[in-house]
Formats: sequence, C-alpha cells, structure tokens
Amino acid sequence: MPTPPSHPFTFTRKQSASNKTPRQINRNLVFNLIRTRQPISRADLARVSGLQRSTISLIVEDLIRERWVLEGSTGRLPRGRRPTFLELNHQRAVIALDIHPAQTTVAVTDLGGRIVAQNVVVLPADPNKAIVPIIAAIKKLMANHSDRSFDGIGISLPGRADPEMQKLVFAPNVHWPVLSIKSKIQRATGLRVEMDNVANACALSEVWFGDSDGVNDLVVVNVSEGIGTGIFSNGRLLRGANGMAGEFGHVEMEHDGRLCGCGGRGCWETVASNTAGLRYYQEMSGHGAPNFATLVKMAQADDRNAIASLEKMSLYLGRGLRMIASALAPSEIVIVGDITSAWHMFGPKVEAELKRNAISRPPRLRPSFEGNTARLRSAVALVMNQGVDLNQRN
Ligand SMILES: [Zn+2]
Repeated sequence: MPTPPSHPFTFTRKQSASNKTPRQINRNLVFNLIRTRQPISRADLARVSGLQRSTISLIVEDLIRERWVLEGSTGRLPRGRRPTFLELNHQRAVIALDIHPAQTTVAVTDLGGRIVAQNVVVLPADPNKAIVPIIAAIKKLMANHSDRSFDGIGISLPGRADPEMQKLVFAPNVHWPVLSIKSKIQRATGLRVEMDNVANACALSEVWFGDSDGVNDLVVVNVSEGIGTGIFSNGRLLRGANGMAGEFGHVEMEHDGRLCGCGGRGCWETVASNTAGLRYYQEMSGHGAPNFATLVKMAQADDRNAIASLEKMSLYLGRGLRMIASALAPSEIVIVGDITSAWHMFGPKVEAELKRNAISRPPRLRPSFEGNTARLRSAVALVMNQGVDLNQRN
C-alpha cells in the first residue's frame, strides 16, 4: 500500500480545491517531498508519494526545467544501477524580513527556508526614516550573495494588511509607515514582494513546511511586543472582513485594565505579551531588564524575579489560549516567540492554565520547532506559496 501523501499535498488540495488541477497538486507534493527528503531518487519519490513512476518523471522534468530542482549526486546500488538524486536548486534564494517596532531582521534563505545569512537592522527614532536602513540592508545582503538568484522578498508584519485593499489596517505597536515599504522595496530591488501578518504567515509556514502534518485546524499564537494569532481552519487561512480575523490580542482580559496600543483597556496583550513580562519584572525587582530575550536568559540562570515575572505572563498566556480553544476548537495551538526558548520552564504553566475548566478536549499545545527563526521562515513561506504556484506556466 502506498504511503499516504504528506501534508503540503493536503494543504494545497484544501486551499485551492476550486482552481487547481490534479497535476498542480501532484507538483506541489513532489516539490515538498524533495525539499524535506533531499537528496532523494525518483524511485523513492514514487514510493513515498504513491504516484506512478511515469508521473514522477514528468513532474521532475518540469521542476528541473524551471530550475526549482537540480540533479545532484549519483547513488550506488547493488548490481551496478546508479540512480541520480534530486535536490532543491540551492542557487535560488529568498529574502525574508521579520519586522518589529524597533528593529527588523533581514535574512537570505534557500528555497527550503534554511537561513543562509542574516542581519538585524536597528530602526532610527524618526519613523519616516525607518525604510532607508532596511533597503540598505537588503541590498547589501543581495550583493554579498550575488552568486544566487533571488525569487522574491517575504515580509512578516506585526499588523493586519487588508488583502483586498493592499493596505495596513491595524498595527497598534508600529509607529512608522510600514505599508509603504512594499512598493519602495519592490522599486529598489526589482523583486516581487509578498507581505502578510506575521501570525498568518507563521500558520502558513507550519503547513507549507509540513511541521503540522495532517492538521487542518491549527492556531499560531505569535507572542512578541504584542500578541497576534493566525487561524488555519478547515484547511485554509481564516481572514474575516478586512483581514481582521484573529485579533484575540485585543479582547479585554482585565476590566478597566492597562491602556493598550489599540486604545482599549486590559486587552490580552497588555497582560500576556513580552511587553507585559518585562513590566512584571520591573515591578518585582525595582529595575528593568534590557530586553525580553535577556529576561528569558536570566530566568534560565535562576533569577528569582525573572522566573516569577515570566510565570505570571505564562498564566495570562494560558488564560487567553483557553478563550481561543473555546472559540475555535483547533486540534493544535503553536506558540511562536522568544518565550519558546525556555518552553521547558514555562510551557507547563501555560498548558495547565489552558486545560483548566476546559469544556472540550484541549488542543495539543507546542512551541514552534523553528524557535526564534519561525518568523523569518514564515516570510519565506509567503514567497514560496505564491512562487511554486505562479511558476506553473502550462
Ligand atoms: Zn488592545
């Protein structure tokens, strides 16, 4: 019996059932199998995918002709047969941007989402000048890797972009004209730019890169300066009117609580984000921590106040997840953010709170496998998700 198709196949089928041909579906399946299992022979592709050997040969020819895939090393089998192994074309690359209010990470990655090089750009205080160092960093990385050809630029945003209007409708923590960067970067580099909310992009990435195998209902919770969620429901991203679905971070958790960037009070992100964790530490110790990543390291080094402040944050994080579990009943919740680097310490606290008084079976809770690079890889998923489809020219 053939091995069941891997997840990207399922994703493609469900995402675009209306406009994809079986040939395109198989093509995505084969591409992702090569990506995850490279180097791999045609015979193994047929065995793993359950597709006919002749179908595999045709698809592989296409992928090689279009330069997605290369024929690499030659294997050696008993009795002298020598299969050729296939791998992704490592000459091709993607630029990934992870945007935060005060800094932006710019990276070069290969088609499989592996990070080849990265730079952190500290943004200037004048919001109108933020775009200048970002474009400079992109151009510098492209120049340093001029032996590669770039397929596009993916941008993960801490806000919501209206997919119809192509404008940013909600980004309470970013105070510079972030939306204008798409056209500016496009003009400066000549590359295609794909942009989406970071939590949506991470949900897409979990499915595109196959980490949530066979899952059709998952929620990604991105815990950063604020909290954003990306909802993958019934096999597709849930966007809602104006692309605003998933703003659980701005549901009131504490009546008359702290003022939030959105103008409301006591929103979930005012009590469970990295910003909240840093504030708890300030309140408990009487002095601040330099940044959230450092606070997590301090907790790992047994700093009592750091541990207590992150435990408090975890409690509120779990409380909000309970709301998500009740609202959407996902089979899995994936956490993205710096807190995942100390998940062994704080994950159990979050999970205990998620499971408290659950009305149905609680979802599986796990940190993103990529840890701190999840947001960069999500930007790659944005480009790849369009790219492989758009390059189907027949
Ligand atoms: Zn709010």
